[in-house]
Amino acid sequence: MAPMSLTKNFVGGKWVESRSTSTIPVVNPATEEVIAEVAGGSHEDADLAVAAAREAFPCWSTTSPAERGKYVAAMGEALHERADELAATVTSELGVPRHLALATQITHPVAKFARYAELAETFDWEERVGASRLIRAPAGVALAVSPWNFPLNQAADKVAPALLAGCPVILKPSEMTPLSTLAFADAAQAVGLPPGVFNLVNGAGATVGEALAGHPGVDLISFTGSTAVGKRIAALAAERVARVTLELGGKSPTILLDDADLGEAIPAAVKACFLNSGQVCVALSRLLVPLARYQEVVEHVREVVERYTVGDPGTPVDLGPLASSTQRDRVLGYIARGIEQGARLVSGGAAPPPGLAKGYYVRPTVFADVESSMDIAQQEIFGPVLSVIGYRDDDDAVRIANDTPFGLTACVWSRDLERAGRVARRLRTGLVRLNGASDQAAPFGGFKQSGIGREHGRYGLEEFVEWQAIVG
Ligand code: NAD
Repeated sequence: MAPMSLTKNFVGGKWVESRSTSTIPVVNPATEEVIAEVAGGSHEDADLAVAAAREAFPCWSTTSPAERGKYVAAMGEALHERADELAATVTSELGVPRHLALATQITHPVAKFARYAELAETFDWEERVGASRLIRAPAGVALAVSPWNFPLNQAADKVAPALLAGCPVILKPSEMTPLSTLAFADAAQAVGLPPGVFNLVNGAGATVGEALAGHPGVDLISFTGSTAVGKRIAALAAERVARVTLELGGKSPTILLDDADLGEAIPAAVKACFLNSGQVCVALSRLLVPLARYQEVVEHVREVVERYTVGDPGTPVDLGPLASSTQRDRVLGYIARGIEQGARLVSGGAAPPPGLAKGYYVRPTVFADVESSMDIAQQEIFGPVLSVIGYRDDDDAVRIANDTPFGLTACVWSRDLERAGRVARRLRTGLVRLNGASDQAAPFGGFKQSGIGREHGRYGLEEFVEWQAIVG
């Protein structure tokens, strides 16, 4: 079957042909087939989208929050109506197993639209301080740049609060997984968003992404992606003092304290490393274990991991392929480096999983005897690789946990919640989960090189508003 040709952008309320002459192939990572091509993107595409968003700003920014909230709610519902179809699209462009695509790419983003719609009523849009009225004013035209690993979910974290705040938005999805995000434009059209309030521009980061991020008509940038590109975005924004929110990479630890319930903690720790084949910013890719229990834990981890299934993401497997051949090769490079630097391969490795001749599959891999200084313990691998690191006592665990350039998330396991909480407060990460607890509404973002700013709920909304003081 010929690949679908999707060379239009959504600008000013209409689908318009991209002005670029190049296209980018979208590859199904399970079959290695090209399933679509999207526009490569150009400076002119960026200019058109920014012009449309700027034209929409005066009206959208003065619409009431209640009105904007209705649109946000309706967009979430429009996405929900297409849940099964969109989950299938995410599986074909990303390789994530279908059941996980539904949970992480449909259920979560739809809930986010609903939660932001509720905030229209409960957020403090105005308050009085002394002789001033403080207004939460829309920050301006927003650029949302999203990554390939969670295409709908990460885009929802930006589009929903931007719209609610009163900011017209331009979404630049990743060129690797652009297909599912087209649904945002369909939803904008279906719910009758005024022209220019939501725009979507496809293309490469280095061309149209760069043109948008450096555009003087963009007032703020909400970026999710790698730390390297995040630094470039921050530099472009600094030129004109535009606001930035950066949601970047991680190298997050699970800490098993010496009283942890291993029967519960180990399967959960393994799962939190291998979700989406490890291609998750919050992947808990380092497992910190008391030396006194080290061999016991490593053996238990090996048993759990060897039950994991890898294969066709259209079937109920644990792990699908990695998203691209580049990503697969990068992960295999880290596995080779782990071995070279002296870590002990406990499970998995560089050989492809048996029976999977096609597709970018990598076996779930576990390394033991990992030193914190090794590349596999310091750098974000973004693949199914778990490093098990031994520690002497709680102080040593905290030291190792904090010993990377990142600070996104962590998880601490202990039968004593007070003790786990004390350790949590010493960790330099934006989120700490105790005994595997999770809360989709918790503010989300990183310390150190994991980013600047927060997403989710009122914290996410605050990234898109400016304080304006009206005195007198
Ligand atoms: P990436 O940085 O390569 O690309 C992200 C986006 O930026 C893409 O849309 C890309 O086209 C665009 N881009 C690239 N260069 C650009 C430029 N010069 N100017 C403007 N835009 C540009 O990241 P990726 O490989 O798509 O995603 C994986 C990374 O994202 C990982 O590091 C992961 O940890 C991170 N991530 C972070 C979070 C979080 O919330 N902290 C969530 C998901 C993913």
